[in-house]
Amino acid sequence: MRVGVIGGGQLARMMIPPAVALGIELRVLAEETGMSASLAATAVGDYRDSAAVLRFAREVDVVTFDHEHVPQEVLLALVAEGVAVRPGPHALAVAQDKIVMRERLSALGVPVPSWGVVRKRSELAAFLMRHGGRAVVKTPRGGYDGKGVRVVRDEADVDDWFATPAAQGTGPGLLVEELVPFRRELAQSVARRPSGEVRAWPLVETVQRDGVCAEVAAPATGATEGLGEAARELAVGIAEGLDVTGVLAVELFETGEGRLLVNELAMRPHNTGHWSIDGAVTSQFEQHLRAVLDLPLGDTSALAPAAAMVNVLGGPASGSMLDRYPEALGAHPEAKVHFYAKASRPGRKVGHVTALGADAASALARARAAAAYFEA
Ligand code: ADP
Repeated sequence: MRVGVIGGGQLARMMIPPAVALGIELRVLAEETGMSASLAATAVGDYRDSAAVLRFAREVDVVTFDHEHVPQEVLLALVAEGVAVRPGPHALAVAQDKIVMRERLSALGVPVPSWGVVRKRSELAAFLMRHGGRAVVKTPRGGYDGKGVRVVRDEADVDDWFATPAAQGTGPGLLVEELVPFRRELAQSVARRPSGEVRAWPLVETVQRDGVCAEVAAPATGATEGLGEAARELAVGIAEGLDVTGVLAVELFETGEGRLLVNELAMRPHNTGHWSIDGAVTSQFEQHLRAVLDLPLGDTSALAPAAAMVNVLGGPASGSMLDRYPEALGAHPEAKVHFYAKASRPGRKVGHVTALGADAASALARARAAAAYFEA
């Protein structure tokens, strides 16, 4: 069994250990040499080049992804050649464009923040007027880690984006949403295989800083059974409604009244599921491989009452995380440290630390203390 992963980042890298364990051959189409996933058999090629991707795809049984950026033309060319692409182009189209995502989720009856599309100041001004003078504007494509997301209070706040081709003429425009006064952010991951089996991990709580995931607590603290059930139903409904195969991560806002609104979808393993490597019977990376190969899915139960994951953002100011191992691993033998073999750079996700515990507070304290050894 051979799985081809397009994209050579840390998500592809973290698929390697479960592939080794299961004896699945993993091949990676990386953007360049020396990327995070280059421990696996790696070809270097441009994921926007149909011919290059097709050459890569012919050598594997199924193609999956480390990111959402493979153009639709390339995906459709693969399907036309009989390649198994999971998730498929029609599902991925929804994760590739935030306006399409809002349209499809609304059509499925999924609760989302109130939203619209704007192309000029007067349209943004009208939306601001209807929403208490505050809103969030997002570029529909290519955003990640909060890039392409801006809180606005004035119609002139996104003039630079209105000047881009996306907002001109027949361009898609910009997504505008109400600024949701959420109580906290949650994430629900599920995996679905082509033959229909679906499994969900526990609902988790995520803390974002400057639009970047900083910490995750699994399970979400104080979540009632009702809330967990509602999140699961939402995510399973989306996976089925959009025909997603592989892992689907659903980022959620919990409002003060305990309502759930869907913010974002990712159709691949996701940062909010990294805790599952050390904290669940089956990690999201193993599950993704099982799902895209249409194999029976693994148990998603947690291994401890609580798990906490803390991202290492930026990394040490000089050297790499590896240089801090003697002190960090010595001081925190209970912590599970993950380094993505990436150079330190301010704000960059270079690794994460997971700790288990009897409760969220103790797991979080341990994970934070260990992760602190790797900060600048
Ligand atoms: P990205 O694709 O860059 O991850 P998101 O759409 O997930 O962007 O937004 C990043 C973060 O910005 C969210 O996790 C949340 O903290 C904040 N955010 C996004 N949309 C809204 C909104 N409508 N109301 C309030 N906060 C928001």
